[in-house]
Amino acid sequence: MASAPSCVDFRLNERDEIVTVGSEWDLFALENDAPELIGSKVIGRPLLEFISGKVTQQFVQALLTLVRSGTPSLELEYRCDSPTERRFMQMRVSLENSGLVHFMNTLLRTESRQNKILISRSTQRGKNTTVRCSMCNLVKPVKDWVEPERFNGSSTSKVTEWLVIYGICDVCKTNLLRSSSAKTTKV
Ligand SMILES: [Zn+2]
Repeated sequence: MASAPSCVDFRLNERDEIVTVGSEWDLFALENDAPELIGSKVIGRPLLEFISGKVTQQFVQALLTLVRSGTPSLELEYRCDSPTERRFMQMRVSLENSGLVHFMNTLLRTESRQNKILISRSTQRGKNTTVRCSMCNLVKPVKDWVEPERFNGSSTSKVTEWLVIYGICDVCKTNLLRSSSAKTTKV
């Protein structure tokens, strides 16, 4: 089996369209069962087409606005979990001299899950739909954001299949603001 890609990067033009993807992009798409997302199929398309949920789209737009308006680079940690692993990632977003915005995603570490956690995206939002944070991958089945394994307070929740919509939790929203204010001091 090929080793997991450790760094996945891409660039956006001023219209937020994907203009280049890094050499490990295709490997990442294929390993995540997403052959429809290989480079040749995403180049030329707007990034926001691939982002689920209005709140997450707004988050990414806010991030892009920051990078284009005086915060030349941002670093954010996030999760990109698979059913069997928690994957801790770092995203570095920077504005290049060419005007392109460069996203560099690096895998920091992984942890195995005790139980397989399957996540599916709900096409409809109901009053009781669980929200999953697109950044930290915590879920909010009731009123608190929790690891899916820890729902109900136990360390091994019996719920292993989640139907979710995507959003951004308050902690991750705050982290975006904090990382931008930490970097706005210009030299
Ligand atoms: Zn979060």
